Order: sequence, then C-alpha cells, then structure tokens
Amino acid sequence: PQTDPRAGAAVKAVDRAHVFHSWSAQELIDPLAVAGAEGSYFWDHDGKRYLDLTSGLVYANIGYQHPKVVAAIQEQAARMTTFAPAFAVEARSEAARLIAERTPGDLDKIFFTNGGADAVEHALRMARLHTGRPKVLSAYRSYHGGTQQAINVTGDPRRWASDSASAGVVHFWAPFLYRSRFYAETEEQECARALEHLETTIAFEGPATIAAIILETVPGTAGIMVPPPGYLAGVREICDKYGIVLVLDEVMAGFGRTGEWFAADLFGVVPDLMTFAKGVNSGYVPLGGVAISGAIAETFARRAYPGGLTYSGHPLACAAAVATIDVMAEEGIVENARNLGASVVEPGLRALAERHPSVGEVRGVGMFWALELVKDRETREPLVPYNAAGEANAAMAAFGAAAKKAGVWPFVNMNRTHFVPPLNASESEVKEGLAALDQALSVADEYTG
Ligand code: PLP
Repeated sequence: PQTDPRAGAAVKAVDRAHVFHSWSAQELIDPLAVAGAEGSYFWDHDGKRYLDLTSGLVYANIGYQHPKVVAAIQEQAARMTTFAPAFAVEARSEAARLIAERTPGDLDKIFFTNGGADAVEHALRMARLHTGRPKVLSAYRSYHGGTQQAINVTGDPRRWASDSASAGVVHFWAPFLYRSRFYAETEEQECARALEHLETTIAFEGPATIAAIILETVPGTAGIMVPPPGYLAGVREICDKYGIVLVLDEVMAGFGRTGEWFAADLFGVVPDLMTFAKGVNSGYVPLGGVAISGAIAETFARRAYPGGLTYSGHPLACAAAVATIDVMAEEGIVENARNLGASVVEPGLRALAERHPSVGEVRGVGMFWALELVKDRETREPLVPYNAAGEANAAMAAFGAAAKKAGVWPFVNMNRTHFVPPLNASESEVKEGLAALDQALSVADEYTG
C-alpha cells in the first residue's frame, strides 16, 4: 500500500469538520482515515494494514475490490449508469431473476430498495396491506435497521429514542439458551418454551390484530443466536394457524454468510416475505430488497402497491448484484463459508475458548460466529453491562484496542465480538485472525474474576 500520513490527516480534518456520523456523539468519535482496501484487508495512510474481521458492517462477503465486480460496475456505468424504476432494464431483470432463483419456495418476485431498513419498511407495509391487520411482532435482541418502522421493530437500545412512534409493535423473546428467559436447560426445552411464549403473546394481543412476525433467521448484530432445531418451523406453523405473515430478515444472514445462500435453507423454512441487502452485491453499490411469495404478489396483481423509490432497482447496483452472484457461484464462495467455517473457524474459536476464561460461549454457523465475553463463566455475568458506555465499557474497549494492535479490525457489540470475515477469506487469513484474537482475549481475561 502507498503511504502518505499528511493525506490521512487532511481527509480526517475535513471529515471532522463536515461529516455527521451514524449512531455517534460527534465529538466523542475518532474515525480512522482509510487509504485503501483489497480482499480481506484495508489499510490506513500510515501503511498500517488490518485484516477485516467485520466485512465492513457484515456486508463485503466477497471482500473488497473484487476485480470482476469492479469491472461489471465500470461496464454498466459506461452503458447505462441509471434509469428510472418504471422501465424494464436488463441489469434489473437479471438481478431479480438470479435472486429469485436462489430464494426459497415461491419467493419469486423481487421489490428492490436502497438497503436493508427500507426493505423492512416495505415488507411490513406489504404484510399489513395483505392481511388488513395493524400489528407486528418482533424479537428482543434483534436489529432491523435505522428508519422509523425498522428501528421500532428492532430489539436493542437504539430503538428507545424512536419509541414514541412505535404504535402496533410488540416485542417477544426468541430462543437463546445461554441466557434463557425460560429457565430452560436444553435446546429442546428452550425451543418448546419459546414457541409457547410466542403463541401466548399472540393470544393475549389478539391473533386477528397481528399482520406479521418479523425475525432475523439467525439474529446478527444482537449476537448470532442460531435458533434451535424446530423453532423456525414452529413459528411457521403458528403463522399459518393464525393467518400471520412470516417475514424473515436475511439482510445480514443472507447471501452465503451462514454457508447457505439463505439462512432459511439451514432450517427448510419458507417465509412469506424475505428481506435482503448487504451481501446481495457485497455493498459495492447500495441495494436491498424484498422477495415476495406468490400469495402476497397476488394481492398486488390488480391493486396498486402503495410504495416506491426513485432508485428502486438502480442499474449500477443491480449490475453489481449480477456480477457478485456470478462470482459467488463461480468461485464456490458459499461452499467456502460452509467448509472453512466448519473446519477452521469453529475449532479455532473453541480452542480460544479453552485458553481464555473471558470466553463464556462460542456460537455460530458458516462464517457467522460470536464470542460472548464474560466476567465469570459460572455466573455468566457479561464482561460489561448491557448498553455500557464510557468507563463501564472499559473491558470491551481494551479488548478492541488490543485486537487492532494485533492487526485485525474486530466487530464489537456490547459484551461480544463477532468473527465475520469475508466469505472468500483464505485459510491462512482466518488463522491470522484467530491468532490476533488470541492476543486480544488475553487483555479481556484481565477483566475477569
Ligand atoms: N436487518 C438486519 C438483519 C441488519 O443486520 C441490518 C443492518 O445491519 C438491517 C436490517 C438494516 O440494513 P441497512 O443498514 O442497509 O438499512
């Protein structure tokens, strides 16, 4: 990489003067000035290189600057950079076809959005119009996006500031054995009791008032809790029983992250609506969407769907999706996630857990893994309290700093770190990431006991 510390300082100074950053107290942040990125790595203007264990915000599933996708974007830009959504355009048609071919069951119609949150907005609007019912059920420990309805259904502290506009949203507990709300001791108990809790919630809310249940197939930001066998099938059954639309949010879990094209394939469950974004084109150009079942598509066959976006199915974003899906198929990237996840990542993380008392649990699937860090393995007290900031978050801040010093960019959320590198990372890159975490966990260990 080329280095020029002065260029980095200039970029940073203008950023600090004019860029208003997401989710942040503007004066308390210190964004790194990034000079470049390629494959699984990025680097700053001083030439310090980081292995990106976050894939950006868990979206660059094919890594950075994949030459075939960059070339496809350049080609599309030369041919037709943009065109309005009411027209039939090759890149858009082709992206929809390739996505529909991979989505489960009869999810064969694709409504394109600019990202994940607006995909969630539209999925919930479709569900309400399809059923004529007002309410939506969603899980605590979830993230569905930053726009009004998407943040209202989210189950993390970021929704609190927007709760004044959360009419019709009801939260419930999804299964999570390590921190069971149901006093369960086995996955079977957790599954059965979580389903019973969901059905009771529906009974008390009034089944005829509920349009949709929205769940991340595998909750991502909230901690990568792979649902126990039978849970999603059970939710599907409950939805069928009460005429409720099942929305699976695959914005983070979709497009190979779990070692399947979609996480729903892990469980053999077909939702009525499925949201996607991120991995659909590795975030090279903003794109998201909703995959729609035959029955819901039929609702809007002769009745206008009251929703749209100027950039719905933007040709540049769609061309990036076509190229990304082709590259993922040609290079076996989904299989790589499955195989490397099982043969190197999982055993590597389990070995770290044995050596480090700060690791309370290792969980995940494919290239989608979380380490839950604790003060005490017996009591499972989190290494930092829920939603900790400042001094209370010192242990996780020290862990993050140690990881960066060791040459990796870690995903850190509350008391967890997630191991979510690009899906086409090599075995040696994954091992490099594990070795860096080994060093950083020694720092987390100092805060245990
Ligand atoms: N849904 C899930 C499961 C996500 O992980 C995210 C983003 O992290 C979103 C929705 C929101 O997507 P976006 O940030 O593209 O609006």
